[in-house]
Amino acid sequence: MQATMTFASDLSLVDVYRARRRLEGRVLRTPLVESPALSALAQTPVFLKLETLQPTGSFKLRGATNALASLAECGCRQVVTASTGNHGRAVAHAARALSIEATVCMSALVPGNKVEAVRALGACVRIVGRSQDEAEHEALRLAREEGFAYVPPFDDLNVIAGQATIGLEIAEALPEAGNIVVPLSGGGLFAGVAFAARSINPEIGMTGVTMSRGAAMHASLAAGRPVQVEEVESLADSLGGGIGLDNRYTFALTRDLIDAAVLLDEASIARGIEHAYRHERLVIEGAAAVGIAAVLDGVLPADRLRRGPLVLVISGANIDIDQHRRIVNAV
Ligand SMILES: *Cc1c(COP(=O)(O)O)cnc(C)c1O
Repeated sequence: MQATMTFASDLSLVDVYRARRRLEGRVLRTPLVESPALSALAQTPVFLKLETLQPTGSFKLRGATNALASLAECGCRQVVTASTGNHGRAVAHAARALSIEATVCMSALVPGNKVEAVRALGACVRIVGRSQDEAEHEALRLAREEGFAYVPPFDDLNVIAGQATIGLEIAEALPEAGNIVVPLSGGGLFAGVAFAARSINPEIGMTGVTMSRGAAMHASLAAGRPVQVEEVESLADSLGGGIGLDNRYTFALTRDLIDAAVLLDEASIARGIEHAYRHERLVIEGAAAVGIAAVLDGVLPADRLRRGPLVLVISGANIDIDQHRRIVNAV
């Protein structure tokens, strides 16, 4: 239980404003655009916060940039992480922009195109072992024994404060927003957005959406403590993975700030991707489609929809393009 005894006061709105200043000129202030099709369905104005437009194709650039910029301020010049997905790309991109050396540890089973994508962003790739766990282990060893700074994907105050700048932008662009819907995995995005939005408007509704297959945060909220779940493949691949049994911040913040949690099956996520393409002209990945899918399925709590405009955080665009083509052609 000790690990979960954390308080929102670890994070302050000042940290979020400091993050915003670090992000200026490095990360996009993304547009918030209304969706006529989804507004008609939800019978309330629906707005999309387009993190798909960030240079690396996902919001992860915000947290990584804030974490790396804050490390650079302390004289750190070498960082390490073990993510092969959006966090790995974000760390590589932010490191290059800040003239920091980034090392990304990956297992020998990571597909060549993912390895190349991270290398192309200027990071050093270290291939170790045959599982994500072994890669993670090596990243932590480099941090412990060789003085690299380890950059976690979500459970870190600077990462959370970086993602929280999305909440600031929403509150400024649409002060009358009644409800924000956020894809939920490790909870860095949810905790950050909810913390900033609630600090500004304590009445705002916060909904977390995730896939029903392998939803670690959802199971942890139900159990009242971080628990492990079996990892299975999902269209929302960026929402996979655990929250860490020794979770320090995101579990408690999510637990304290969430009003409603929604689970979706794979068919719903596919419909979300397809709707985004056909009706919004957006190519988005499965993790980013869960908010749209929740509107299409009519599973958002009706009382919350009456509070005012609904904002969906469209978190990323990095879907395999052949997989995308199969999904949008399957209908
Ligand atoms: C990482 C990620 C998420 C989930 O963010 P957490 O902070 O882990 O909850 C959602 N969507 C995309 C596209 C992501 O890359």
